[in-house]
Amino acid sequence: MKYVLVTGGVVSGLGKGVTASSIGVVLKACGLRVTSIKIDPYLNTDAGTMSPFEHGEVFVLDDGGEVDLDLGNYERFLDVTLTRDNNITTGKIYQSVLEKERKGDYLGKTVQVVPHITDAIKDWIQLVALIPVDGKEGPADVCVIELGGTVGDIESMPFIEALRQLSFSVGQDNFCLIHVSLIPVLGVVGEQKTKPTQHSVRELRALGLTPHLLACRSSQPLLETTKEKLSQFCHVPAGNILNIHDVPNIWHVPLLLRTQNAHNSILKQLNLLSIATPPDLR
Ligand code: ADP
Repeated sequence: MKYVLVTGGVVSGLGKGVTASSIGVVLKACGLRVTSIKIDPYLNTDAGTMSPFEHGEVFVLDDGGEVDLDLGNYERFLDVTLTRDNNITTGKIYQSVLEKERKGDYLGKTVQVVPHITDAIKDWIQLVALIPVDGKEGPADVCVIELGGTVGDIESMPFIEALRQLSFSVGQDNFCLIHVSLIPVLGVVGEQKTKPTQHSVRELRALGLTPHLLACRSSQPLLETTKEKLSQFCHVPAGNILNIHDVPNIWHVPLLLRTQNAHNSILKQLNLLSIATPPDLR
């Protein structure tokens, strides 16, 4: 199984869900089978009890799972049918660990965030990634994992640590990290600013994860000089810096990715270039 992890930096509501779904579309168009997992680092077990005014629409899956609206994006973009287990929350992880603790499954050990919560996260991801969601037999080729929230949040720390361990155990040919970040423009100067992205990449690297690609959200297309600066200071090759500027309709985002050859960078990182065909996004 190959994993593509999508993280977000600087601010929330950047478009991680749309970016992760669009990456799935581009990979699917290369002939790969894609599944997805959404991680929500909140303590609610699911989105069913959360106010839609605060959290947006609650998406109801075929199995009755009440989940984050991003799973609706995945189902629509990728034409898959996800299960409630494709949405991991802190609440679900703690519930499963505490149930095991009450049953005595930890054999008297002190139950801790590391390794028990992080192991539960890794096991959950690896198990759910194998569930076929496209109506075909056998597991998908690639699992796109979206980590909700912003890198550096206290809430997401156990997930970041679990994903760091996962990236190490599956090996670098099987793990691609795409960091979605914001490039603001200062009104007075009119200059695209890279510093917030530099800081969020530094934060990510301090936690043991190095991004292979950057997906930069901006109001206007990125300038070449901005890309060069990002490449130099974020340690990401210029060819792996994608620009996802504001578009009138989110269905344009997969096309934006294809135009920038995002599939080549991802397939190269995952060592899949030899088996994938060029994307057909007609
Ligand atoms: P996150 O997962 O980071 O919270 P979402 O993927 O839910 O963010 O997107 C937040 C909002 O931004 C959504 O309303 C989405 O339609 C919009 N959006 C995302 N990407 C773009 C884009 N490239 N252009 C315009 N709107 C976008």
